[in-house]
Parts: sequence; structure tokens; C-alpha cells
Amino acid sequence: MSKELLKKLGAGETIDVRADGKAGSGLVMILQTFAEAVSLKGDYQVQEWPFFSSARKGANVRGYLRIGKGPTFISCKVDKPHLALLVSEKTGEELDFASGMNEGIYLINSPRSPAETADSFHLRGLVYTIPGDQLGEKYLGRPLPNIPLLAAMQTALPLVSSTEILKALEDIGRKRRLPEKMIEANKTCFLESLKLIRREEIPGDPSWKHPLPPFEGYLDYPTGAQSRLRTSLSNQTANYARPGRRLVFHDPENRCNGCSLCIVNCPEGIIQFEKDEKQGVRVTGANIDQFCKLCRECIEVCPIDLFEEVGC
Ligand code: SF4
Ligand code: SF4
Repeated sequence: MSKELLKKLGAGETIDVRADGKAGSGLVMILQTFAEAVSLKGDYQVQEWPFFSSARKGANVRGYLRIGKGPTFISCKVDKPHLALLVSEKTGEELDFASGMNEGIYLINSPRSPAETADSFHLRGLVYTIPGDQLGEKYLGRPLPNIPLLAAMQTALPLVSSTEILKALEDIGRKRRLPEKMIEANKTCFLESLKLIRREEIPGDPSWKHPLPPFEGYLDYPTGAQSRLRTSLSNQTANYARPGRRLVFHDPENRCNGCSLCIVNCPEGIIQFEKDEKQGVRVTGANIDQFCKLCRECIEVCPIDLFEEVGC
């Protein structure tokens, strides 16, 4: 199946990857490092983007990667991935990480066999498993499955060599200002993980299907600034705010100078404003009751302190 994907690339199509897991599990680093390695090699072009902003540890998060031979002009989210990563099995119990795929390539952080995980999640196709938490514990000092899954990804999608991934791990590690010791530990973890990947072709049951759910807002994802989110009452991120505290916007003297810092920094995209002839825009408030999760970004950036956190 990996060969089929390589053929698609050769024919000018893209390979689409989607990853689901918990915030804090290193999901972004898997996709970023793979994208970095592919870009460094220069044979393909990549788009890599997470589908969330400031997420609390433990919240379900999602990320995408799209690889093409030349410039890729589509930039929509990945609905029908060729390859799906499950960074946390707990996430797999809470949502259908295979939605949009009836058959495909699956990479799962699990100590179980590919057949066992395929049975649990009703997967058909090529299933890889790796005991990522255990490997993370052993080489990185905590159950962090990102590097083991990166090894599984490089095995399933051999667009780049192990050496190129190791180079990307160094680059990304330095960009993130990781200590050299941690970069070396990541590299060791990657090489050791390559030895523990399990792979099985699973015919499965043809009745196992993963339809795309109808769009009902962004549900459990702590996404930021998407326009649909602002109208999606099923994702009321105000639930994330600390109990007993709330944000207020107070500008009785029209002091807002239209700098727009709050507008571009609010991860929920809920700052309300109107057109202003002199200064471009004037902020009038925010949809606080339904969507403000009290992240304090607006409080930090407003140069004239028009936002405030208060008790309620
Ligand atoms: S605290 Fe400010 S920046 Fe954060 S969600 Fe609320 S309005 Fe947006
Ligand atoms: S950051 Fe403050 S001054 Fe700037 S647009 Fe927002 S409310 Fe107005």
C-alpha cells in the first residue's frame, strides 16, 4: 500500500495524513519533524498544520500533513486521509480517528498487536503498532510516544531515510531550544523504535465503515479562530474558563486605538469590532459568555488595558 501512495505522488496527487491524540503528547512534533525532513530533501513540497491553538494538556487535538510533488494549491483540512496516526488510544475511544477512511494505513501508539488494535477500532488495511509510551518512558524519561510514532511513520511512508529524519530531529530540536542531551535521547529513541514496529495487513470485515460525520462545529477540538467556530454552539469553549472568573471588556470613553492586537491574538476569534473611519477598526466587545476560555491573551496584548479578569 505504501507503494501505491508513492505512485500517487508520482502522478501529481497528494498524500494526506491526519493525526489524533492528546495535547501534550508530541503530536505536532511528529508531523513537523517529518515535514522538515521531506522539505530538506527537496523532492516534495509539504503543508503541515495543527488544527488547534492553545490546548490544555489532555484535550483531544488533531494535526494534518499534506505532501505533493509540486506546489499544492488546496489548503483545506484533511477529511479523507491516506494515513492516520493515533497518538493516544484514549482519543481513539472518544472519536473516530479513521473517519473518512474505509481502508488505509494506520499508525497506532499501542503495546497491542496490529490485529488486536484493528479489531478494537474496526480498521481495514495496513496497521502498524508501536509501544510508544513504553519507549518514551525508557529513552525520554516519560511516556511520550512522539518519536516512536515518527519511526513508524518513516517506515510506513519511506519518502525520507532514517538519516534524514535524524537530521530533522536535530534541526527541530535546536529550533525548539531543546538541550543537546534531549536531542541525542530523541535520536536514540528513534533508532531503537525502528526495531519494535509491528505491521500487519488486515483484511477486516467489509462492514467496518468510517463515514465522514456531518459537520456540526468543531465539537471537542479546542480550535481557534475558525469562522464556523464562532457560530458553533456545540463547541462552547467558555467551559474551559476557570470557575468563578470571567473576562470583561470595558471602554466607556472609546479609548480603543484599533491596533487589532486582541483581534489577531484571541485564539477563539471572538473579539467583536466595527469599522472606524479614522483608525480602521474599533473593538466593541467579545462573545465572552459562550466562547471566552479566559486564556488572557487579550489582557496581555491590549496596550491600554481594556480587558480585565474579574471574579463572578
Ligand atoms: S481571554 Fe481574551 S483572548 Fe482569550 S478567549 Fe477570551 S476574549 Fe479571547
Ligand atoms: S488590543 Fe486594545 S486597543 Fe488594541 S484593538 Fe484590542 S481593545 Fe483596542
